[in-house]
Parts: sequence; C-alpha cells; structure tokens
Amino acid sequence: MSSKESNREQGFQTLAVHKGYKPDPLTGSLALPIHQTSTFVFPSAETGGRRFAGEEEGYVYSRLGNPTVTALEEKIAALEKGEKALAFASGMAAISAVLLGLVRSGDHILCSRGLYGCTFGFLSILKDKFNVDYTLCDMRDKESILREIKENTKVIYIETPINPTMQIIDLALIGQIGKEHNVTTVVDNTFMSPYLQRPLEYGCDVVVHSATKYLGGHGDLVAGVAVGTKEFLEHIQFTTQKDIGGILAPFDAFLLVRGIKTLGVRMDRHSENAQKVAEFLESHPKVTNVMYPGLKSFPQHELAKRQMDGFGGLISFELKEGLEAGLNMMNKLELLKCAVSLGDVDSLIQHPASMTHSVVPREERIKMGIADGLIRLSVGIENVEDIIYDLEQALS
Ligand SMILES: *Cc1c(COP(=O)(O)O)cnc(C)c1O
Repeated sequence: MSSKESNREQGFQTLAVHKGYKPDPLTGSLALPIHQTSTFVFPSAETGGRRFAGEEEGYVYSRLGNPTVTALEEKIAALEKGEKALAFASGMAAISAVLLGLVRSGDHILCSRGLYGCTFGFLSILKDKFNVDYTLCDMRDKESILREIKENTKVIYIETPINPTMQIIDLALIGQIGKEHNVTTVVDNTFMSPYLQRPLEYGCDVVVHSATKYLGGHGDLVAGVAVGTKEFLEHIQFTTQKDIGGILAPFDAFLLVRGIKTLGVRMDRHSENAQKVAEFLESHPKVTNVMYPGLKSFPQHELAKRQMDGFGGLISFELKEGLEAGLNMMNKLELLKCAVSLGDVDSLIQHPASMTHSVVPREERIKMGIADGLIRLSVGIENVEDIIYDLEQALS
C-alpha cells in the first residue's frame, strides 16, 4: 500500500472486508487464520517477563489476547469509529463486563425505559447483590433525563431503537448530557449495527453489541463486543474481561469476521425488505400499531432519519384481535421461523411478553410499551414477495 493510499479514508464496506488482517506474508492465506491455541511460546525467558510486565508487545495466553480475535477487534473498532474494541463470548458478557468496570457499590445507573431482557436481569443482580441502584427513564425528552440524574449517577445506559418498541433516543442529546454531568454514556447498538448508526460520532463514550445479531448475521454464533477509547477498553481488558474471563473463542472470531465482511450489503437488504413489509402490515385490516422507524406514521421518524443511515430490519406490531390471534398467526407461518434472536439472514418472529421479555415484571413491561399481544419480526434478506406472501397467508 503506498503512503498516499494509507492516508486516504476508506469507505465502510472496504473496511468491513479488509480492516484488521493483511494476507499473512509467510503463507499468503487470504482468509484470516484461526489461531486455535491457548498459549504462546516465548522466544526467551526474558521476553516472557517483559510481556507480563507490559514492556513488550506480544501474545501471552488467549484469555489476554489472540491474533484471530485481535483481527476482529480492529475491524469492529474501525467500523464504529472507536479507538479500540474488545470481543466477548456473548453480548451479555460484553454488557456485564463494561457495567461492572464502571460502577462500584453505592453508584447509580440511569437506563432507558425499555431494555434487552437480560440486561434488565443483570441490573437486578447489581442492585440485589452489590448495592448498585438503577432507574428506568423515558429518555425522549431532556427534562425527564435531567430530573433522574443523581449525585451518584455514574452511567447512562441506553438502547436506541429500543427493543422491541423501536422508540428512538437522541444520541447527540445523550452524548451532551453525559459530558455536562461527567457521566459515562453506554449505547447498545445491536439493533442498528455500525453500518446504520455510530453512537461515538454523537459524543457517546462506549458502544456495546450483541454480535450474535447483525454483526454475525447468519445465526451461527453467540458473541459480543465493546468499543470506545483505548484507555477505557484497556481498563476493561485487564480487569473485568481478564478476571471474569468471558472471552471470545478464535473460531467464533473467525466466523464473525466472515459475517462482518458482508454487513453493509446485508443491512441495505434488511432495511429495504423491512420497509416494504412494514408498509404491507400497516395497510392490512387485521394489523394494528405497526412500529417501524421508516414509516411516515412513526412518531419519531424525523429523529430516526437524522441519526440513522437507514431504518434496519426490525418491526413490531399487534393484531387487532389480540394475543391469541397473534400466536395463532405465528403458528401458521411457513417461511418465517418462530425464534428469538434477530439480525439473521433468515426472517425470525417472536412474542416478547412470553419470550425475550418474560423476565421483566408485567407492570414494568407494560410501562416499556410492550403489550401482551405485541409481536416482533426480524426481517431477513429473502425475496420480499415471499416474506409478504407468508405473512398474508398466515393472517388470512
Ligand atoms: C441479543 C441482545 C443482547 C444480548 O446478547 P447475547 O449475544 O445474546 O448475549 C443484548 N442487547 C440486545 C439489544 C440484544 O438484542
């Protein structure tokens, strides 16, 4: 690569394909090698000592770093526009390591009202066992956020769009409030992927992902990532990642790198398909309350347009006849699969109240906007006529 070329900023899809790995000069292997090893041989005893002391670069033991995993981390960091990324065994391993790294007993976390079910579960553990309090807050306006920030608030933790109601939170506002109040802002960017939304560009501090979803994209792995400054991610790497140990295995890192190579292409198709499916559902007489940021009827359509580069693949809706009719419809589907998870090339449909959000108490769930009959659809990359055909036959 000429120096002229290396100064040029490459586009998203180019980075998605190439960043993090150059064909190995020894073998020329085009694909990223899987370094399936637990430990690394030191060329000398002194080298080993220097690596442990942090005085010399180099691998030591795969819980502390592995070349296949490093390639993935460099790719993710470039796509999210962060200085450094870390890969974890799951989204929850990433989220829990980041939160544990940020708080101590007596602190408070301010969260968006509407959270991934297990993130809510982890907050309950922090509260019950470690005296770390949390508040759920409707973050659609500035005043309600400011009202809930306390003396001991150390973290603002949000999802946007919120799972599964698709409510949007203004990332620039969150970044600004975080800076003004000296509070670390953490954004779960799973629903959008860095192709459609980059929270760090809006002044937020840390991005977390369930890489199981769009980043992997093929429903064949469980993984998580966290992205932010080098200083913060090194703190996590050498404390809650190293000592709790929720690291990603080399083979899963390889699969994730392979998945990410097509991220932009897949996201375009997910968004295109979901727009058409949302419009179909909205016009269907048996369907009500279709929530998709790309619909003109969506209350925060303008904000979505401003901070997202597309509207993604997730839609929530209800049937007019309620819960029973919804479950019935799900059972009649032939192409669309009834499964939790999302962001796969396959279309997946699920019922949050009895599945992903069953751990959330009903009263809190209703406050989150998740009605008993709400259905969430993750639109895949199949031919959209086939997805709509399947929904139509199941609804009739
Ligand atoms: C799936 C998911 C998680 C948890 O990730 P895992 O990889 O399943 O541990 C967290 N946040 C959101 C928004 C998710 O969809």
